[in-house]
Amino acid sequence: MIHTGSNQETFLHDTLKTVFGFQTFRPNQEAIIRSILAGMDVFAVMPTGGGKSLCFQLPATVMHGTTVVISPLISLMKDQVDAAVGNGIQAAFINSSMSSDEVSDVYRMLQYKKISLLYIAPERFAMPHFLERLKTVKLSLFAIDEAHCISEWGHDFRPDYLGLSRIPELFPDVPVAAFTATATRRVQEDIIYKIGLRKPHIVRASFNRPNLFYEVKAKSRVELQILEFLSDHPGESGIIYRTTRDSVMETAGFLNTKGIAALPYHAGLSADERTRNQETFNRDEVQVIVATIAFGMGIDKSNLRFVLHADLPKNIEGYYQETGRAGRDGDPAHCLLFFGRGDIPKIRYFINEIKDDKDRFISIEKLNQIVGFAAHNVCRRRQLLGFFGEDYPDDNCGACDICSGSVEQVDITTDAQILLSAISRTGQRFGTGHIIDIVTGADTKRIRELGHNSIKTYGTGKGRDKKYWRSVIDELIAQETVLQEGDPYPVMKITPKGSDILFGRESFMALRKEEGKAKTAREKEDAEGYDRTLFEKLRAVRKRIAEGQEVPPYVVFSDRTLREMCRRFPSTLAEMRKISGVGDAKLERYGRDFVREIQSYLDENPGIAIPEPESGDAGSAVLPQKKKKGETIEETYMFFKGGMSPDDIAKLRSLAPSTIASHLERLIMDGRDIDMDRVVDPGKRLKIEGFFKNIKGWELNPVVEHFTGMVSYEEARLVRAHLLRNNKG
Ligand code: ADP
Ligand code: ZN
Repeated sequence: MIHTGSNQETFLHDTLKTVFGFQTFRPNQEAIIRSILAGMDVFAVMPTGGGKSLCFQLPATVMHGTTVVISPLISLMKDQVDAAVGNGIQAAFINSSMSSDEVSDVYRMLQYKKISLLYIAPERFAMPHFLERLKTVKLSLFAIDEAHCISEWGHDFRPDYLGLSRIPELFPDVPVAAFTATATRRVQEDIIYKIGLRKPHIVRASFNRPNLFYEVKAKSRVELQILEFLSDHPGESGIIYRTTRDSVMETAGFLNTKGIAALPYHAGLSADERTRNQETFNRDEVQVIVATIAFGMGIDKSNLRFVLHADLPKNIEGYYQETGRAGRDGDPAHCLLFFGRGDIPKIRYFINEIKDDKDRFISIEKLNQIVGFAAHNVCRRRQLLGFFGEDYPDDNCGACDICSGSVEQVDITTDAQILLSAISRTGQRFGTGHIIDIVTGADTKRIRELGHNSIKTYGTGKGRDKKYWRSVIDELIAQETVLQEGDPYPVMKITPKGSDILFGRESFMALRKEEGKAKTAREKEDAEGYDRTLFEKLRAVRKRIAEGQEVPPYVVFSDRTLREMCRRFPSTLAEMRKISGVGDAKLERYGRDFVREIQSYLDENPGIAIPEPESGDAGSAVLPQKKKKGETIEETYMFFKGGMSPDDIAKLRSLAPSTIASHLERLIMDGRDIDMDRVVDPGKRLKIEGFFKNIKGWELNPVVEHFTGMVSYEEARLVRAHLLRNNKG
């Protein structure tokens, strides 16, 4: 049955919640799903982490027949299928790693209409037998993942993908949806043409990744810098990229000697070792992987909290892709690049080996762009998006080192003039190194030979070191007051804007970074807070379950979902269901284990303030206005001070006695004036106190059990609050 209009809207949102456990769609998801349900073809470019899978998985669960997903990465199929099954979706895969018996099983299930989601590798489409089979099955949709693989214009062409062009002709009634995270306009046209999409609904999502914090730091003794970062982010998962195999091994070794478990990954390791290291990382058994860019294609781990680049990447595309692996779950993640000019000659060396003139030229251009990205004091996000042809609308992105208030404007007109003057007086014929030598008054052979020690600016900049002058030159270039011309030895030329500064018609402002002050979105979120002790406990529960089921932990629940639990402390299944990422299947399967852990944590830690459900919760608009927790506690206090007993207050206010007890507990913990004798009978209280002193910990169950029938849960709880308060002094 196809739902229409607002009917369909509610229906889709319900499915989003019950199957996937999410409250709202990410941008574009709903529009894509609607087109698919209307039987249209779709072409969608969405950044990594944009939530592409849901765009075909949700339709798969609501349409009749099987959705066939074509995906090139066999290594990921199992995890994806496990994740779908975890959400209660009937999913399976067919690939070359399976025996013919296993494949036959899947075919049988297909025949019996038992599979709504089928993952297959593209090479199957060259097999007539497979196509014959498929034609006998009722299909709902073809979803082509990593669709750019069909284009020779893309960076990842796979001839196998060309077989997919037969789909529209063989299955004229089945819609086709193609997804990719990287496609220039040219690749886009090519994909649509090659597959033969029929008037597709085209979606180009923004490449902005709002949850990623971008930062560039000056590189010096990079391994210590990495160590410092890791100590500030304990227990978090991430990748450290290095350019060479040797440096990968060194850094991994270094971290291990410092007590941080890190595994290496590069193309020089055996296939076995690579797979093993990747698996260990995937399963959260090691938090850090040090890798060359060979690592990445098979990464589907959604909870990467950081990506560090210890060396300069070759170009911006690569940098965007590598950093894009962080924070796929939508939670804040940190992308930190250590930038040192010393890395430039190493990359230049490789570029100079390129034979083809045009290719070499393009590589140099790309290198200049990434150097510009790192050196310019311009919002990193604006620069990255600009590179993809997107105009970032806001002045301040709030999530990069430049925008987050760690920089200040300073007037460095005089210093700029010193450099510009040195450039001008030497005829605009020299490169940066020589100009810096002049202003710092270096005594080099070249300077003596050229007589540059006699020009007026020689040595005027002695007071500052070379590094400083280098940074001013970067700024001059970034603000286009000088241009670099010529290859391989570029010289600096002054632009009209530069002349204005040299002759004092304009001042020159620069942004100065104060190292180490940038506050990431993540740190801001931490300040808002979630309970880290509980988080560790829930992680352990997740790990136990994941091991039992032989799936990676994130297939059970994402970090983001766990963190929300540590903010809202759901201690019943009904509350658990409201947490984002908890759908019906997962609620049923894992809900109890997590609720139990949270419950016992709350028991051991009385006095944890549990927030009221957030406004905007389903249904809140139709319910009568609820009082805020603070107000209702004050009301209890007022009645209590007025002489009423807790039971009477409960009756008067039509609240459960346990609710009133929890109010009193809060009031006691806060040190308010509560006469304990009116709360618990003094004799009983003495006994309970005595018992608490004899047991370890603060759990309530043992108390209630010990005094069977005599002491209620509430009484034990209130005495405990009183003891804790007094212990605090
Ligand atoms: P992509 O394939 O585009 O890189 P995924 O499909 O792997 O992205 O989704 C990335 C993450 O976002 C997954 O952890 C997924 O569960 C989560 N996600 C997808 N859609 C939503 C949504 N509407 N609300 C919350 N999380 C979502
Ligand atoms: Zn910014």
